[in-house]
Amino acid sequence: MALQALRGTSDVLPEAITRWSAVEHTARRVSRCYGYQELRTPLIEDATLFLRSVGETTDIVQKEMFRFEDRGGHEIVLRPEGTASVVRAYLEGHLHKTEGFSKLFYLGPMFRAERPQAGRFRQFHQFGVEAIGSASPWVDAEVVTLCVEILRACGLADLTVLLSSMGCRADQARSAEQLRERLRPSLQELCKDCQGRFDKNVFRVLDCKNPACHALAWKTSGSPRPTGSHGIRGSGGHEEVGRGSPFVLCADCQAHFEQVRQALGAAGVGFDDTAVFARGLDYYTRTVFEVRAQGLGAQDAVAAGGRYDQLVEELGGPSMGAVGFAAGIERLLRAQEHGRAPSDEQRSRRGVYLAIAQPALAGEGFRLVQQLRSHGVCALMDYDHKSLKAQLREADKARCQFVAILGEAEVKQRAITLKDLEQSSQETVPLEAFAQTVAQRAKTAAAACHA
Ligand SMILES: [Zn+2]
Ligand SMILES: [Zn+2]
Repeated sequence: MALQALRGTSDVLPEAITRWSAVEHTARRVSRCYGYQELRTPLIEDATLFLRSVGETTDIVQKEMFRFEDRGGHEIVLRPEGTASVVRAYLEGHLHKTEGFSKLFYLGPMFRAERPQAGRFRQFHQFGVEAIGSASPWVDAEVVTLCVEILRACGLADLTVLLSSMGCRADQARSAEQLRERLRPSLQELCKDCQGRFDKNVFRVLDCKNPACHALAWKTSGSPRPTGSHGIRGSGGHEEVGRGSPFVLCADCQAHFEQVRQALGAAGVGFDDTAVFARGLDYYTRTVFEVRAQGLGAQDAVAAGGRYDQLVEELGGPSMGAVGFAAGIERLLRAQEHGRAPSDEQRSRRGVYLAIAQPALAGEGFRLVQQLRSHGVCALMDYDHKSLKAQLREADKARCQFVAILGEAEVKQRAITLKDLEQSSQETVPLEAFAQTVAQRAKTAAAACHA
């Protein structure tokens, strides 16, 4: 029997890679435009990193991490999310000393041992940004705006931004006590996990995957249950902050949240600040947000994030504010199917197909193809003695912009025929100037090659 990819993992075949690359390219382009720089961190980390950041009582840490001992007895984890690693790298790379405020982004696979189901994978891919070193509410607004702009640039329509605030650590402690008081009479009705979480981190009950706990917690919290069916309300709403939310905010946190809402209003980003939701990671403080897109389930955010003002300090750095988000690339692609994704037909032609009239010309052809490539031009040729007609068919299938035809007569004259398939024009170019001519003529192709 042929071997298969592990459950919850999948291959991205060349046919699908165009859409992946387009999303990655768009995310990089828009992020750089906002002044964010890419960083890469290892796929494996010390388990302690996620215990200390994501939180010991979270589902991710309790049930979903791929955790193993290496030969030296160290506890290793396949990273389940990006933020903790980025903060660790920020500190380990001394960016807090050399750069201070840093705007970073990353792209790559994450791993969670979830039971595979529609739209959930054990190896999934995220794009994320982290702005570390500022407590300013303008940065929250920038991060939300960047998130929305990337998703829109990827062709997603009908986005709903849910915005809320979980308050500072003091607010969370106060709110937790309130929630515990309300839940205490129903403690026996909660699942085993939640009974364990009750004292340590009662907010986890709000996002328990057991529907009974979930319903009970939201009911007793006095909040409407999150439904995800809210439309975007105009920006600049004036409802009391945290209305219906299990989090009761202090004056500073309320002012911060109000500033975020105003800034988003100024940026023209619509949001819904009346929906109630909790983010299932311990490090969040103050602003949290989710972006939902049409075509995904009500509970499936395509992107989510928030502020984490204590995490840098909790991971051994100085006390400094930070905010970020992560978007799920598989989910984004799924939502794209409901929006507009670039089709093959819309993709512009690029590169050169070098066709040879006879197999004997393969050597000269190969030399020219390599010359083109070293000039940054995408170049293809046939190595299997196909007929000229078959080669021309391949050129069209590969959506090349140019076909260069090398024949016996041309080689004698040290020249080559160059056809522009987009312009339907044809000319004869001296071999000496061939690569340079094409590179100049195909600047767009070269740019696409290096994208
Ligand atoms: Zn507060
Ligand atoms: Zn539960």
